[in-house]
Amino acid sequence: MILYNSASRKREEFVPNHPDIVKMYTCGPTVYHFAHIGNLRSYIMEDILEKYLRYTGYNVKRVMNITDVGHLTSDADEGEDKMLKGARREHKTVMEIAKYYTDAFFDDCRKLNIKTPDVVEPATACIDEYIKIISKLMDTGYAYFAGGNVYFDTSKLERYYIFNDFKEEDLNVGVREGVEEDTNKRNKNDFVLWFTKSKFEDQALKWDSPWGVGYPGWHIECSGISMKHLGEDLDIHCGGIDNAFPHHTNEIAQSESYLGHHWCNYWMHVLHLNTTSGKMSKSSGEFLTVSLLEQKGYDPLAYRFFCLQSHYRKSLVFSWENLDNAQGAYQKLIARIAALKPEDGTLDQAAFDELDGKFRAALDNDLNTSLAVTALYDVLKAKTNDTTRLAAIGAFDGVLGLSLLEKAAVKREELRKEQLAAGAFTIVSESGEADAEIEAKILARQDAKKAKNFAEADRIRDELRADGIEVTDIPHGAKWKRI
Ligand code: AMP
Ligand code: ZN
Repeated sequence: MILYNSASRKREEFVPNHPDIVKMYTCGPTVYHFAHIGNLRSYIMEDILEKYLRYTGYNVKRVMNITDVGHLTSDADEGEDKMLKGARREHKTVMEIAKYYTDAFFDDCRKLNIKTPDVVEPATACIDEYIKIISKLMDTGYAYFAGGNVYFDTSKLERYYIFNDFKEEDLNVGVREGVEEDTNKRNKNDFVLWFTKSKFEDQALKWDSPWGVGYPGWHIECSGISMKHLGEDLDIHCGGIDNAFPHHTNEIAQSESYLGHHWCNYWMHVLHLNTTSGKMSKSSGEFLTVSLLEQKGYDPLAYRFFCLQSHYRKSLVFSWENLDNAQGAYQKLIARIAALKPEDGTLDQAAFDELDGKFRAALDNDLNTSLAVTALYDVLKAKTNDTTRLAAIGAFDGVLGLSLLEKAAVKREELRKEQLAAGAFTIVSESGEADAEIEAKILARQDAKKAKNFAEADRIRDELRADGIEVTDIPHGAKWKRI
């Protein structure tokens, strides 16, 4: 499989460090508000990556943090803790809003068929890990204490910028509107590992530490949680593109300085979902959520389908019109699958392998989900039987996560009920199997009855019985079983 590695800025063959396990880490949500559908674009694409790795036979251990402390309003450690702001907004405690929005996040994930990672760890549960890392960084001179806080000293590194070739003058990090620069920093990009002093003294959650009572910085949590569950090395680290700098850059700085060796091999960044008026952001107040899509009558999986139609390394523009198109195409796809006959022949392995080959080629190519969706449409057009088509669709959907077979079964049942209600003739098999030949004979018998040719109708019934099929009339149709 080829993956684009943002650290090398190249497409690379994916080779895990260990033959028996792929170690994968994903930056989780900051739970001070609902996730917006932009955040969820990142989680959908990461979910596809995890599921595809499993599809190709890898064992995956995926870890995700929940940021419930330390993420300040500026990613570069200035301003107020976002959790505290959220708690004040809602007149609740930090822990109450953390629980509320963590549950809301996983509800959204469930609606979007995003699998829960193997390990989900809140930042507040790993304070000892951070203290262990920071203590060593202090001992080895990578960190310093100033103005009550512990900072990582970026001047100690030979190479700090990993993901971009920044120009120094462009790096006025953290200095965003309304946010004052921290004068304790020795270098502009130094970042906080442990806070004991903040301009916002009402920080709710604090822990004892060798540097005083305080709380961890945002970046240290991902290094600490990753090392706790995945050890000293990592195959793939994922996140949205805004995480590349400073968050992931700082994670690398502190992890590699602590470990004394290279840490993570592949960095996967998902480009943003933007609205026609710009980037979607939680702090801007108004943003799109999964619940809002539902209120407006959209199926959350139509949004997943919309995301799959474009490549994760291109930014994606959301508009209601685009979502309408995606929902229309998704429903059509389900209707086409519903029209397939579940027991049409036996599995044609050669045809299946050919279709599967196209599907894999798409995802092996740096997770090209839009070509993988094309491979799904190719299944419908393929010269093979419906049993093979349905097997391929079921297999591919294990990765794509569009609930295609489940939704097609519901659709099939709806159609059957509609036909019944409209007085149409329906054929039901008692065992649930479908057989085109038997159904054709039953229809021919029905035609004969309509034409009052009862001799022919009886002849067909006898012929079916001779083949071991018993037909019984029911209101608006016939049912059959094997005897
Ligand atoms: P947060 O909850 O703010 O910590 O962000 C959770 C995840 O969503 C991170 O991986 C971010 O990089 C990612 N993210 C934030 N905004 C967007 C966006 N507009 N489109 C895609 N991903 C985003
Ligand atoms: Zn992180």
